[in-house]
Amino acid sequence: MSSWWSQIGNSLFSLLSPRREACLLCKQVTSLERGELGLCHGCYTRIPWIRKVVCLSCGRGEHCPDCRRKPHTYFVKSRSAVRYDETMKELLARYKYRGDERLKAVFGHMLVHAFQQLRLDRVSASAGQVRECITYVPVSEQRMQERGFNQAEQMARELGRRVNLPVLYLLKRSKHTAKQSFKKRSERIDDLAHVFEFDSTELGRIIGYGEPIIIYIVDDVYTTGSTMNQCAMVLKQEMSIPVEICGLTWAR
Ligand SMILES: [Zn+2]
Ligand SMILES: [Zn+2]
Repeated sequence: MSSWWSQIGNSLFSLLSPRREACLLCKQVTSLERGELGLCHGCYTRIPWIRKVVCLSCGRGEHCPDCRRKPHTYFVKSRSAVRYDETMKELLARYKYRGDERLKAVFGHMLVHAFQQLRLDRVSASAGQVRECITYVPVSEQRMQERGFNQAEQMARELGRRVNLPVLYLLKRSKHTAKQSFKKRSERIDDLAHVFEFDSTELGRIIGYGEPIIIYIVDDVYTTGSTMNQCAMVLKQEMSIPVEICGLTWAR
């Protein structure tokens, strides 16, 4: 009986007191504030949110030479939640390479910020009236086996749940490419040609009567934009209905 009372007492206590948990980034056990995404106050305040977009094409928060020399993009615009600084690199590494899957909710939550930026910037009369769906940059079979999950897919699903939009598998990766980060810009672009293919398996979920649709492509990091552009190109070329593509990435 007494242990029953102490259990009740403990759960009441934990309901009433702030959550004490390990911060997802620095692992320090502290009282976590609601709305701070499972991070301690110190780590939360270090998130470099992109609040003011400077490059209207890729959503960068600072001057952007990349978009000026780009000949053509198949996506209308792209927006990102945060600047990819050292703290964010560490956060992503924890999620991607150490399999800390608790972080997927944090990333999904952060991606809502990018989504809101995109919605804010859209001045088209069709916004909110045209059908919309979310898809994601696929990983190769090999990478999927190594890691066990596709972080872009998880982020897309978390986002879809939060903004109430369907998430569809529309792209597959037909060949495995070496890690992008070790390559020069020109090598990356050559490498990406014919990497992505359209997969129509889930198309029935959105195709109605040839009506136009907006597709948001989710990825973790926007570096040169070539991955986003290749994915957008495949969708634009292969889909039989008018599509408008926008990019949504966690970091830029
Ligand atoms: Zn922390
Ligand atoms: Zn740009």
